[in-house]
Amino acid sequence: MPTSPPALLVVHADDLGMRFGGGHPLDLRRHRLAVALCREAGILDAPGVVVEDAPGPLDDDALTRVFAPAFVRAARRYSADPALAAEWEARQWGFDQDLPAYAGMHEDSARGCAAAAAAARAVGEGRARRAFVPAAGSHHGLANRAWGFAVYNETAVAVRALLDAGAERVAYVDLDVHHGNGTQWMFYEDPRVLTLSVHETGRHLFPGSGFAGETGGTGAPGSAVNVALPPFAGDDAYRMALARVVVPVLTAFRPEVIVSQNGVDHHHADPLSHLLTTMPLYPDLWRGLREVADAVAGGRWVALGGGGYDPCTAPPRAWALLAAEMAGVAVADPVPDAWRARALADGCPSPARGWTEDPGPAPDPDRDRRAAEGSAAAIEETLAAIGRFYGMGTGSRAATPPSATSAVHADPSHQRSS
Ligand SMILES: [Zn+2]
Repeated sequence: MPTSPPALLVVHADDLGMRFGGGHPLDLRRHRLAVALCREAGILDAPGVVVEDAPGPLDDDALTRVFAPAFVRAARRYSADPALAAEWEARQWGFDQDLPAYAGMHEDSARGCAAAAAAARAVGEGRARRAFVPAAGSHHGLANRAWGFAVYNETAVAVRALLDAGAERVAYVDLDVHHGNGTQWMFYEDPRVLTLSVHETGRHLFPGSGFAGETGGTGAPGSAVNVALPPFAGDDAYRMALARVVVPVLTAFRPEVIVSQNGVDHHHADPLSHLLTTMPLYPDLWRGLREVADAVAGGRWVALGGGGYDPCTAPPRAWALLAAEMAGVAVADPVPDAWRARALADGCPSPARGWTEDPGPAPDPDRDRRAAEGSAAAIEETLAAIGRFYGMGTGSRAATPPSATSAVHADPSHQRSS
């Protein structure tokens, strides 16, 4: 193992991603423009930054370490002959009008998995300290079902690759506005994997899960943590969730490596959610993740993209800012003119001039007050649900003394033997 691995490995190809076409919200410009901005801002040329082309599709042996062989065979079948996906049988595997089968979808999704696996392996094997794949980050798919906007769950592949590389404690942090349900359920009974998701409540948003009471399955108590924010929650809610839940839980869990899903579909301009975060939040989120990774995981951090469905506003700048944080590069306004020209040519009508320039949502004090109260209550609810596992109290009450269960969780070696 080299004594000084690259500070940041970026795995990317401009054509990486699912291609549903038509009016599907998934738009490859969000990744392309993010990486173009990284390039124009000099982030990819910084010392210690290595860029690798995304590899070819993950092979079936590797896929079936994560997904059911019958599901992989079904996805291959519909990918080779999309007309077959009109059969009722296709529904059980998750293919429907929201996830329309198309020729080559297996290969597209397996490429995203391979990129996620390559990044995770590099960090897990000590060949890179941090790794970033902006074009991978699907998190809804189950072991036997496509769900959301990808056939295969790429974040689960990253977690599995780290376990296969020998990691015994992996923390998965999901900041996407949608609950990271697939990854949570796939590792719900595995005490080696902590899944922690901050999202808009499933009462109002797809996929309808991710409540505070989902705290891990048999043999893995406390291994799932959920913060279900109310509609219209904004920057303060995410900051509070980071400070009061994400950082303390990660500090208690002491992962060897962190995998983060960095969807920014909680941005106020995003068409698929009701949250109201703004650009100035994102550098704070990324700094918080970097600091906690440095503090508790030896800096080992695999970052993936995620949701973000207004390709011209939040995703390109948010993910370039994430790459800058991971690379240790400071960026300053204005964003490079060459990137603005590229974004204009790519159909973005008025690319921002500032890295965190953002008009914000229309003001509405009543809405914001209700959202702030609801967010504070949601965080208290999470703390109440997980406090006994992590020795954390709620509100102004003193921290709950660590119980036997929390002691077990703080020592996964004990847990594995129990
Ligand atoms: Zn999402």
